[in-house]
Amino acid sequence: MTPTVAVLRTLAIDAAALPPAPNGPLSDAQNTRRLRPHPAPCAACGTPARATRAIDTDVGRRWLDLCRTCMITSTKQPPAPPVPLTETMAAVREAAHRASISTALVLLVDPMHEKALTPDRSS
Ligand SMILES: [Zn+2]
Repeated sequence: MTPTVAVLRTLAIDAAALPPAPNGPLSDAQNTRRLRPHPAPCAACGTPARATRAIDTDVGRRWLDLCRTCMITSTKQPPAPPVPLTETMAAVREAAHRASISTALVLLVDPMHEKALTPDRSS
């Protein structure tokens, strides 16, 4: 799956519903006209777009206008850490204890990585 197809699939966007984009290299002025002064609607949610680009799809070249939230949502997420976060936190606590540092650790959990915090009970 190409990155463009993955973005469209992630955001449930039908390429055929996107506005046609001109072929060839695009100038900054062409991109800017889609965003200023009146931004095109985000292809996924309809709010004002913050970024635009032309993409090649199976139905031709199309504009992909995205708002900030949808752009972030469609960005490839990093893989989960190789070591469960619970082990990492335990190592940090142990290092703090050995260094006689009194500290409290607060972990803010990103829902994308919540699984990494869940103890593996399968073994
Ligand atoms: Zn959006």
